[in-house]
Amino acid sequence: MTAGIRDEAAAIAGDIAELRHAIHAEPEIGLDLPKTQQKVLRALDGLPLEVFRGRGLTSVTAVLRGAHPGKTVLLRGDMDALPVTERTGVPYASRQQGAMHACGHDMHTAMLAGAARLLAARQADLAGNVIFMFQPGEEGEAGARIMIEEGVLDAAGDRPAAAFAIHVGSSVLPLGLVASRPGTAMAAADTLHVTVRGRGGHGSQPHLAADPIPVACEIVTALQAMVTRRFDVFDPVVVTVGSFHAGTTDNVIPDDAAFVATVRTFSPQSRDLVKHAALHLVRQIAAGHGLGAEAAFADGYPVTVNDQAEFGFAERTARELLGDERFIAAPFPLTGSEDFSYVLEQVPGAFLMLGACPPDADPATAPYNHSAEAVFDDAVLADGTALYAELALRKLAGD
Ligand SMILES: [Zn+2]
Ligand SMILES: [Zn+2]
Repeated sequence: MTAGIRDEAAAIAGDIAELRHAIHAEPEIGLDLPKTQQKVLRALDGLPLEVFRGRGLTSVTAVLRGAHPGKTVLLRGDMDALPVTERTGVPYASRQQGAMHACGHDMHTAMLAGAARLLAARQADLAGNVIFMFQPGEEGEAGARIMIEEGVLDAAGDRPAAAFAIHVGSSVLPLGLVASRPGTAMAAADTLHVTVRGRGGHGSQPHLAADPIPVACEIVTALQAMVTRRFDVFDPVVVTVGSFHAGTTDNVIPDDAAFVATVRTFSPQSRDLVKHAALHLVRQIAAGHGLGAEAAFADGYPVTVNDQAEFGFAERTARELLGDERFIAAPFPLTGSEDFSYVLEQVPGAFLMLGACPPDADPATAPYNHSAEAVFDDAVLADGTALYAELALRKLAGD
């Protein structure tokens, strides 16, 4: 039924690479990517799609309506770059100082545009709809959440039955391998802000002041004890205090001490628990010393959770499309975070990694995503495009 989709993708691989290189050479950061948006619109021009632009961000939502009724599938590709100055030396390297597609989102955008072309050519045979979600602002700006608020999940009329995203890696995974796992795929990343309020004074007379520094230090240590004593080792929590500031010199007790921690969790349960436990701990330790403390979490992205059934479907699809040996079941979640998690909170689906490490590099030592030297190989563009398209085709065919 879908025989030939890999050949069709291979036949347009040159165009996909050309689009990828154009986006790569002119990277844009954040929610406002007007040039990237224009490139996507040009690539989709002439295809039988309903195209919507975002209001609060330069997203592109394209809906392909099949000739026959059926369910809706969502495919997502993110479009934003990072504030990194490229040092890869590739011919299509960034021409923008301080901006680089160091996370491979240029690949995702080009593959998704290629999939739109392949699927549009099959419109007459399709039963159901495909939503193509071209998303800015993945790198910390929660672009996916804004697109959801602007209605991407309702763009075709009914809610998607399933949603899929592919993410390339410049290292770890060998070229062309697809990896994912059922359940938790990536961490939640939240930020804990703490300020211990004391009362400043002379360093020689601490009893006349209220010294916030030893109290803040005690809290930092107690947070690590909390992680090991209150959380299941098989549902891990990472707390890293990456910034700690207090005082000016040796003989002055400052008024306050402040620190910031990143808090990574791998289940919604641990995420809730760590928030309650950490805030309680901070306030109670400060209170125990007669001081006050302000503590608050700033929410980052939620846990990225692959639906069991949709993961199984995606695994089968990848194995049958690309070959059994091209899929590996990832043993552990990644400790990074992803805003596709907002989509997966509302729609069952799966997030898949695709190895794009250059064939002449060692995946174990090649520069990782976000590195100024990270290189993503064009060789996977055709198969990534075919995988996006095949996931939609099989889902609409009732798989
Ligand atoms: Zn990234
Ligand atoms: Zn990324």
